Amino acid sequence: MEELIEREIIVELKSRFFDVISMGKLSLAESLARMVTLLKELLQATEVDFYKSEEWKQGMALEATTRSDPNVKISGCSPECCIGKLSETPQSFLKNPALLPQYDVVFVLDAKENVKGLCAIQMNSALVGRLSDRLLERIVDECGLFVKKIYTLAETMEEEKRYKQLFRVTKKFHSTMDMDVVLGEIISTLREVYPAFTYFLLLSHDHKGYEGLPVKDLEYNSDNETAMQSYVSGEIQFEDLVIDKNSIMYAPLIGKQGVYGVLQVIAPNSLMFPQNEVEFIKLLANTAGSALENAKLYEQSRKLVADLQLINETSHQLNTSLRLTDTMKFICNRIIKSFDAREVGIIMLNKDHQEYSVLQGSTSFFFSKEAANYIVNVAKRVKEELDPLFIGDFSSDIEGASSHFCSVMCVPMIQSGDLMGFALVMHEKPYHFAFDTFKLLQSLIHHSTLAFTNSMLREELERMVVTDHLTKLYTRGYLDDKMNLSLLEDAQGTFILIDIDNFKRVNDQYGHQVGDEVLIQLAQQIAKNIRSTDIGARWGGEELAIYLPGAPLETGVMIANRLAEKVKKHTDPNVTISCGVSTWIRGQNDTSKTVFKRADQALYQAKGSGKNKVVIQNEYQFDFSKKI
Ligand code: GH3
Ligand code: MG
Ligand code: MG
Repeated sequence: MEELIEREIIVELKSRFFDVISMGKLSLAESLARMVTLLKELLQATEVDFYKSEEWKQGMALEATTRSDPNVKISGCSPECCIGKLSETPQSFLKNPALLPQYDVVFVLDAKENVKGLCAIQMNSALVGRLSDRLLERIVDECGLFVKKIYTLAETMEEEKRYKQLFRVTKKFHSTMDMDVVLGEIISTLREVYPAFTYFLLLSHDHKGYEGLPVKDLEYNSDNETAMQSYVSGEIQFEDLVIDKNSIMYAPLIGKQGVYGVLQVIAPNSLMFPQNEVEFIKLLANTAGSALENAKLYEQSRKLVADLQLINETSHQLNTSLRLTDTMKFICNRIIKSFDAREVGIIMLNKDHQEYSVLQGSTSFFFSKEAANYIVNVAKRVKEELDPLFIGDFSSDIEGASSHFCSVMCVPMIQSGDLMGFALVMHEKPYHFAFDTFKLLQSLIHHSTLAFTNSMLREELERMVVTDHLTKLYTRGYLDDKMNLSLLEDAQGTFILIDIDNFKRVNDQYGHQVGDEVLIQLAQQIAKNIRSTDIGARWGGEELAIYLPGAPLETGVMIANRLAEKVKKHTDPNVTISCGVSTWIRGQNDTSKTVFKRADQALYQAKGSGKNKVVIQNEYQFDFSKKI
């Protein structure tokens, strides 16, 4: 009779367990909750608790209970302490266990390999006696099978979820070429899968960015030997810190061409890194390694393309641009933009390398007093060694003086074995420039040196030319220089701007050649009508000019009128001229520009009011540009 009832109990238990499992969608916690409720019901128990232990965790943890408040403290000796002893008992159940006196019956379940379960039951003690060993043994067997099953199911589900995540991440990895995105994705996946763990990416290459990512530098002299070992060997390493109760896994991020860093995963409260997580993390690290490699190669190839473009464009610019200042501005801007530099200067040295000059177009800092410190210091080294300089922290290089710019790159400009000067590129932050940048600067400067020195020579030559080839008058540049000198030295001066009237007609009617001859005739008239200290110049095209240093306005007007008369008579084909006359007197803060401008305005008036006349600068042209 009793046997029949017992069998019925077992059948009922089996069928209820079967129901739970076949529902499929229940979580592990829900399945365990159903188990303890079922046991409570079948055994008419007061409360049933289920504890679980894992090898890598210390002691046991309450996983399910029939108590309304799962946080309630169960009085008596804790199951955590006696797990070791309990798991050694040959019996699968214990009635009135001495080790856990707060419970009346304890089932020891083999949940899975390395996982032990403990069903602890509180019940009416009278009922305990009536439960036969045979029944208890069968219940333990069934519960053991059930627990094993639901753990396996939960594991499979978990595994499926993870691999889905891995698949998602891999897809994302392959859709991006951005290192930051790849690294961010690794971390967010890990955070999702193991929220309790802590992660760090120990990276070996010099790359900036990683906003908000737990990235650390992996250096060769790092004191983290295990991480280094993993990096060098390319193999997973573990570190169990018994004192900190932490277990750390180091998974190398491996690509086809090398190891890019190490993923550090810290599992808290564990003596050994959970073995079943290792495979997944390893897979993730491998995928990340090849994704990083792709992104890095892509970045490198883009950088190379950009570098070549920079060199190409600069060479092109150098070969087409005529003015050195424009070329300089272009190069400085490109260096600032491409290298993220703060100051860029081209410093030229004289023949014996004793003097230097900063080329126009260098950033304004190089024209300040402070810049001399840097220039002199760098020049000294470059002169001696003729080698480029790559300094990460300049402040440690200057004795005593503190340096505002720490990162300094210098590339000498050498032409046919001679040192012509050097390019100086700087930034406040120490170790700001990457070595690649330095290499690029070198090729850029090597490519530019010839063009640079050529355009400097050309400008020098231009400056040296003071006579206009056609008219044999002075060049405009010469007049400019002389006028600037006069503005400094003299008390006054007068300027005449001369333009041939309807000159186009002469050209059209007689041809350019004849036009040129008329220009020459006018120039001869000018030369005849001024003194040797005066300067007659070709202002540009068919416009000529006269500057009379020290002369008052009246003299200028007189000369202009006299010239106009002479030209009318002594040109063939006959032409007339219009003149604009301007003057300056010390104390009026004139510059050559303002004097030119007034003459130009007067000439414009002469042209507008009938031509063939001399017009004097408007006395009432006030300059309102100055603030009160
Ligand atoms: P305007 O009275 O307004 O000055 O009339 P314009 O025809 O002289 O007009 P403008 O001064 O604007 O034109 C200058 C012309 O002079 C145009 C250009 O062909 C000619 N020219 C400029 N330089 C030279 C030169 O060196 N030789 C010759 N033959 N012609 C020149
Ligand atoms: Mg003209
Ligand atoms: Mg003209």
